[in-house]
Amino acid sequence: MIKVEEAIAIIEANSAKMPTKLISVNRALGYVLATKVISPINMPPFRQSAMDGYAFSHSIRHQYDVVGISQAGDHSNIKLKATEAIRIFTGAFVPNSADTVVMQEHVMANTDSILIAEMPEKFSNVRPKGEQIAKDDVVFEANTLITPAAIGFLAILGITEIEVYKKPKVAILVTGNELMQPGKKLKKGKIFESNSVMLEAALQTIGIEKTKIYRVRDNLKATKKALKSILKKYDIVLVSGGISVGDYDFVKEALLQNDVKELFYKINQKPGKPMFFGSKNETLVFALPGNPASSLTNFYIYVAPAVKNKMGFSEIHKPKVVRKINSDIKNNTGKTLFLKAKYDETTVTVLDGQSSAMLNTFAIANSLLIVPENVEEYKKGQLVSLLPID
Ligand code: AMP
Ligand code: MG
Repeated sequence: MIKVEEAIAIIEANSAKMPTKLISVNRALGYVLATKVISPINMPPFRQSAMDGYAFSHSIRHQYDVVGISQAGDHSNIKLKATEAIRIFTGAFVPNSADTVVMQEHVMANTDSILIAEMPEKFSNVRPKGEQIAKDDVVFEANTLITPAAIGFLAILGITEIEVYKKPKVAILVTGNELMQPGKKLKKGKIFESNSVMLEAALQTIGIEKTKIYRVRDNLKATKKALKSILKKYDIVLVSGGISVGDYDFVKEALLQNDVKELFYKINQKPGKPMFFGSKNETLVFALPGNPASSLTNFYIYVAPAVKNKMGFSEIHKPKVVRKINSDIKNNTGKTLFLKAKYDETTVTVLDGQSSAMLNTFAIANSLLIVPENVEEYKKGQLVSLLPID
């Protein structure tokens, strides 16, 4: 049995980044850049007006003749005299002979002249060429997550393709004779199966849109056979259930018989102790406990960081949140506890119903409160560390 920190470190050391691919910018949401991106242009590409108004060369004069118009999209590089201005609109090219734009609200306009009522400072309302980014400057460093804003920025620079890390292909193998799919009438002795859809949804929150789900009964031969083909096709395999020490738990044996290398088995924690982590070639295998709350806890603590590492993220662990605890907490287990909890602006409340089989409180929790194995007690009012979940 290993410590939580050791398990996290072993997983991190074994989850190498995925190969890369070129992708269209408009399909790149949620991917992580594999190489830095350089700007092919200046942005703005020319000096732009930031206002609807008049462009002129700044001086002590207040009166100017209006001798032309520059609309967005035009390129009239008119040569203005010191006494002249042009009508200009937001985003339009500012002629080289002008250095300032006055907004139209600060002007009294006649048919072909203006009187500036409120004189702006020199260079006001002119966006310099390359103000956002200069040609050949770095747009994004490698390992940047592509967000909607990043897609917009790449598009405005005229970039249509980027190199990203591929997303890992993930499969879930569900074990358990007692499991039935929701939607049918529940038979005696059976329960509805929750882990596949729950883990699939948790994967979606970190950018894995599609997950393939397989099911087997508690049978060594069937489990071994299912794993044999799954291991060939996926980068990450999650197995649900069958990894404990019961007479009908065959997952570990089936993995070892498929030449999966054991990297650890069992972690000194509650819930979620019976977990196996291993690898075969580049494929990672997480055999998660069947108890739904254990399964999801271990997803957040172990699986999500590994998926993010493979996807190319530089930050694979969510930042912890620190809050004052609302009640005393005892830990006489010698294990690290992950407690379903709800935090607000100032405090955190540990929820009732911490059993590993129970999802009722997990479903309303927004965090896991971490009580390290060597901490025997937290006193009400003490600051504690939480992992936010969504
Ligand atoms: P196991 O880890 O296979 O021994 O299962 C532990 C407990 O979790 C048992 O009560 C199972 O019925 C339950 N369980 C296992 N797999 C699932 C699942 N996919 N959905 C819901 N409950 C499950
Ligand atoms: Mg089982």
